[in-house]
Order: sequence, then C-alpha cells, then structure tokens
Amino acid sequence: MLSIRLKKAADSFIKRKHPWIFSGAIEKVEGNPSNGDTVQIFTSNKTLVGCGSFSPSSQIRVRVLSFDPVEKVDYDFFRRKISLAQSLREKIIDTSKTNTYRIINAESDGLPGLIVDRYSDFLVCQFLSVGAEFNKETIIGILDDIFKPVGIFERSDVEVRTKEGLQPTQGLIKGIAPDDLIEVLENEFKFLVDIKGGHKTGFYLDQRDNRALVSEFSKGKNVLNCFSYTGGFSVYALASGAEKVTQIESSSSALEIANNNTELNGLNIYNLENINDDVFKVLRKFRDERRTFDMIILDPPKFAESASQIQQAGRGYKDINLLAIKLLNPGGILFTFSCSGHISQELFQKIIAGAALDSEREVKIIKQLTQSSDHPVSLNFPEGLYLKGLICLAN
Ligand code: SAH
Repeated sequence: MLSIRLKKAADSFIKRKHPWIFSGAIEKVEGNPSNGDTVQIFTSNKTLVGCGSFSPSSQIRVRVLSFDPVEKVDYDFFRRKISLAQSLREKIIDTSKTNTYRIINAESDGLPGLIVDRYSDFLVCQFLSVGAEFNKETIIGILDDIFKPVGIFERSDVEVRTKEGLQPTQGLIKGIAPDDLIEVLENEFKFLVDIKGGHKTGFYLDQRDNRALVSEFSKGKNVLNCFSYTGGFSVYALASGAEKVTQIESSSSALEIANNNTELNGLNIYNLENINDDVFKVLRKFRDERRTFDMIILDPPKFAESASQIQQAGRGYKDINLLAIKLLNPGGILFTFSCSGHISQELFQKIIAGAALDSEREVKIIKQLTQSSDHPVSLNFPEGLYLKGLICLAN
C-alpha cells in the first residue's frame, strides 16, 4: 500500500483541510510511491484521513485529493469534481453573453494543480503538478465528454512545473488546433485571443468582473490604461462612453490585438492612443509634461514572484501608484491592482496609503476588488486569493 504518515505537529493541518502537505510534515513514506501516485494519508496515530498525489521532487510533497478516508480516486472521482466545478460556473456565468471563463480553478475546485479555461469552443488546460499530470488522460477524456470542445490545447509552458520535476510544455492534446487568434465573447464584448501563445492561457479572465466595473465609471472620461495587454479594460471604457483611452503596454503584438479588439466592437480607433513603452518611464514623462487623466487603471504583472521579493515589489507598486495619483484630475478615479499572491490585501492597501500620503492628495477607497467569481477561493486554501484591487477617488 502506498501511504504517508504525518508528524504529530502536522495533524492539525489536515484537520483544517488545507490541501498541501509539505515534505517536513511527513514522518514516514511507505510503499515507495513515485511521481503522481495516489497515496493514502494517515495521521501520526495511524488514522486514515484521506488521500493525495505524491510529488517526490516538490516541497509540496502531497496535494490532497480527498479528505474522505473511503473515497476512491478513479474516473468517477474526477467526473464528480469536474461536474461540480461546472455547475458553479453555470450559476454565475450567463453563457449567452460570456463564452470564456475558468471552468476549473485548481485547489479551490478540489483538483490540485489543474487549470481549465474555456475559450468559446476550445478548452485550454494547465497541468501544474505531478498529480494533475499523472491523471491527465482521465481528465482530458472527461472534459472532452462533458464539454465536447472543438479542441483541447495545453498551456503548461510555465516555470512552476520545474518545481514538480516536470518540463514546461504546450500543444494540442485533442481535436482540432485553434487558429492563431480566436474570437470570444465576454459580457457581450468580442475579443481576439491567442490561446497558443498569449499570456497565461490567452486572456486575463480573472479581470472580467472588474472590467464590468470600469464601464460604470468611464462615461465622458479621459482614461489611462496602464499594462493594457490586448485592451480588455480599454474596450469596456470606450464602449461605455470614455472620451479617450490612452494605453501603455510593452508588448507590441498585444497592442496590435488591442487595435483589432477595438474595431471588432465597432468602437472608434481614433479615440484610442497606443504607447508601446515601459509604464514606469511613461508615467514620469506624463508627470513632467503635466498631462492629466480622469481615470487611471494600473494592472501590472506579478511584481513578487516569491516571499523574498515582497519589499522590492512593494516599492514598485508604490512608485506607479504615487505617479498615477499625481496624474489624476481632482475627483479622478484610480483602479489599482496587484496579482502577487505574496502581497496580502492588507499590505497592498498599506502600500497605496503610503503612495496617497506622499502624493499630498486626499484619497478614499470606494470599492475593494478581487478576482472574478469563476476564480473561487476555497476557505481552506487562502493562497487561492491572489488578485486584489482598489477603486480609489482622489481629490
Ligand atoms: N489589464 C490586462 C492584463 C495586464 S497583464 C487585461 O485586462 O487583459 C500585465 C501586462 O503588462 C502584460 O501585458 C505585460 O506585457 C505588460 N507589461 C509588463 N511590464 C510592463 C512595463 N514595465 N511597461 C509596460 N507594460 C508592461
């Protein structure tokens, strides 16, 4: 029998149903399990409490699949989990208006290391842990059967795979390969997405609910969208009556797609100004030119990749937020985000408070933001909450 026994100090973690068991929490491994094998989990006093996937090269040695001692991890197990995840999405997504969303959000949907996103008729998967990789064939078969996609594409071309002893990889897994750009619908807006080579699985689906909020504030505004990628926020702003949107993005190919997305939604491309440059540099240039805006969106990439980078990331967030607050007209609105899991909501708010203080403006939070509802966070797995944001009003 393949199994692990916990150290006494680790018994409480399993009671709290946290899905990660670190190598240091394990007293004994039995049966010589290899990559991805399902092992039974025993507490220090040898009570069977569940099972999980074994990952010999990762610090996260076991990812728990079930906290039920009698539950079997087989085809039916994965089918139940995937169906449960889908039934949540059916409750929260109006698929006549949105045909792109996250179907499976890894640990928070009870399937550690597995991401599945829907892009219209295609599914895009990431297998981020050895356990997910080990069960790939079963998972793909079920996804194919339930969703009947035209194609299933893998985007496991991410560094975290190396921590699990897996090589980054990508490619078509099943069905027909997608075109270079496919059209999807988000809140009735059309977007072109490169699922083969775009960021993440192609589009920042986690910002959908926040994009809808941008619409509410955009009418008649002169908007600056920093780190715009393919213009998600810009399309919503223009469609909701923004006078002008200026977007800054370091990827020229993303900006090209942003132009296409603008036209695809019947919006006037002349109201969109593209700046293909570094946000840190352009914000300083605008400051020197005394250029101002009514609304600014700051949605930077992850500044803190690890806990050791928190301080440095904090300086980066403070820098762009201070510059942005100063560029706002009185009564201006700031949408500011951090997708660094290592920066808590509390710390992020402190950083913005520091920026507000230095700006000598009076800044209020009018709404706290998080990732879209198709990226749920299991209460046993707070690490699942990574996207934080604030809507601020600056007088
Ligand atoms: N707001 C976007 C997602 C932004 S992701 C959306 O809703 O789709 C962050 C983006 O910032 C990426 O597209 C990346 O290419 C870009 N980027 C990263 N560093 C940058 C920098 N210093 N200056 C400008 N753009 C940058």
